[in-house]
Amino acid sequence: MAHPAPPPRGPIALSPALRRANLARLASESFDLLVIGGGINGAGIARDAALRGLRVALVEKGDFASGTSSRSSKLIHGGLRYLEMGDFRLVREACKERDRLRRRLAPHLVKPLPFLFPVYSGDPVGLFRLGLGMWAYDILASMRNIKMHRRLSPRKVASLEPGLKQDGLKGAEIYYDCATDDARLTLETIMGASGEGAVVVNYVNLLEFLKDAGHIVGARLHDEQSAQALEVRAKVVVNATGPWVDEVRRLDDPATRPCLRLTKGVHLVVPRARVGNRFAVVLRSPRDHRILFVIPWEDRTLVGTTDTDFSGSPDAVGVEPGDVAYLLEAVNAFFPDARLVPGDVVGCFAGLRPLAANDGAIDPSAVSREERIIESPSGLISVAGGKLTTFRLVAQSVTDKVLRFLPRKTAATAKARRRSKNLPLPGGVRTANGNRARSAQQEAARDDYLSQRYGARAPEVMALMQHNADLASPIVAGMPYTKGEAVYAVEAEMAQKVEDILRRRTLVEVRDQDAADRVARELEALIAPLLRSREAKPPAT
Ligand code: FAD
Repeated sequence: MAHPAPPPRGPIALSPALRRANLARLASESFDLLVIGGGINGAGIARDAALRGLRVALVEKGDFASGTSSRSSKLIHGGLRYLEMGDFRLVREACKERDRLRRRLAPHLVKPLPFLFPVYSGDPVGLFRLGLGMWAYDILASMRNIKMHRRLSPRKVASLEPGLKQDGLKGAEIYYDCATDDARLTLETIMGASGEGAVVVNYVNLLEFLKDAGHIVGARLHDEQSAQALEVRAKVVVNATGPWVDEVRRLDDPATRPCLRLTKGVHLVVPRARVGNRFAVVLRSPRDHRILFVIPWEDRTLVGTTDTDFSGSPDAVGVEPGDVAYLLEAVNAFFPDARLVPGDVVGCFAGLRPLAANDGAIDPSAVSREERIIESPSGLISVAGGKLTTFRLVAQSVTDKVLRFLPRKTAATAKARRRSKNLPLPGGVRTANGNRARSAQQEAARDDYLSQRYGARAPEVMALMQHNADLASPIVAGMPYTKGEAVYAVEAEMAQKVEDILRRRTLVEVRDQDAADRVARELEALIAPLLRSREAKPPAT
């Protein structure tokens, strides 16, 4: 098949040619830092370290964000729940980061979302205590949150959220956090790292560490796409593999004790018309009083999450009938007209929280969500936990540790520490006149949708569709994602497989698993020639 349009030429395009060139660089250059894992933490560390002038490489065994970072609740939040645990510092930091992401780093990907928190008679936290928590939340956000919280009477709740159970309702609070696309936030962070010189490659697995006198000096890797092994040299290696952190630590030292306790979090996607929720609503599970969310997602509602201990391989995490029953029970209890049954679930996903092991808590929901950074005698630095929201702070701490192994770099990079705070991710970049990049066509609804997903990069996607009208047609009828985005995903976002496009570059599969299955073959036919033709050509200069 002829190539449908000229490939995008943006400075940060993660093209097939760049992937090939990066593989060659991995094998031939020597790096200050090798990051294993392309979730939000690995991406953030690569960006932070590259911004400070280090020579950085990052490898990811699957697609970028294919682990926990595409299976979260997709919220950028201060963590109201952590107030209950008395974790004020965590909440304050998260609130600051939420605002920084929304205002400066990724305004196209981080959008305000109002939450309605109803209180019923018999709830463990009454209206008075919830109100105090709300004040604390606003104060910890330095009163700069999207809007201040406000109290609602039961009558007002009934008019704003008519489908919500009225029986026993005492009132509610409305407060604000943000929603995001977790996989795209991760991808843009990877692009940001690449734009600063980091050598990033997906579908490259860590096989073993290379050591010199017991100290790690590099790694043996395997490129799944070419089925070839390669060796990379690096002064420091960071293990940012989330739920796989212990697996990778055992490659370094088979006798090492696990540092993680994995808990599984499941989300379901159901038609929003069935639930009827207008707001993001905070619920308490009727079974165990755990906090759950019902989040509006255009014509869908996202319901989550469970929190149960998990002991299998992180590669095998999945959604069980018991998870579905637990979540549907809660939605049906609070939205009595929903009457959802498992057959109404159109999409679902399960992720693993890499929590700190042995902190004494029996209830998984009570284990601290803070990150852990562990240094091994071999020099391996492992990081696990944290939140999507606070990835930039975790990245800063990890790079600070890395710099201790590279003493001569410290002075040169001290000033650069602040850059990660203010530099927008690639799609969040403003144009010279101070406005976010817009074009005349962007006034149309589809183009608005593209700017919301791609920000300043939207014109590159539009250019593909203008060149070839067929690419303006949707991947699935009724969904906003176009074939042009699928082509762009291959040409500029390092997508290698159909599932990368259906699950992470777009959300087709999450919104409708059956529809994703139906279009998979057609999509394969569209992208296969793009991957093949790019593979055959020499790297772009
Ligand atoms: P991951 O995203 O899992 O990345 C690790 C990567 O390492 C994976 O992509 C994996 O493929 C790769 N890898 C593993 N082994 C190897 C190897 N041998 N070689 C190469 N690569 C390898 N946070 C929020 O801020 N907001 C939320 O709403 C929110 N909701 C959540 C809901 C749930 C159910 C869960 C589980 C978490 C949630 N979080 C949320 C937390 C947040 O999602 C995680 O903290 C974050 O995604 C962890 O990112 P990570 O990079 O550490 O791990």
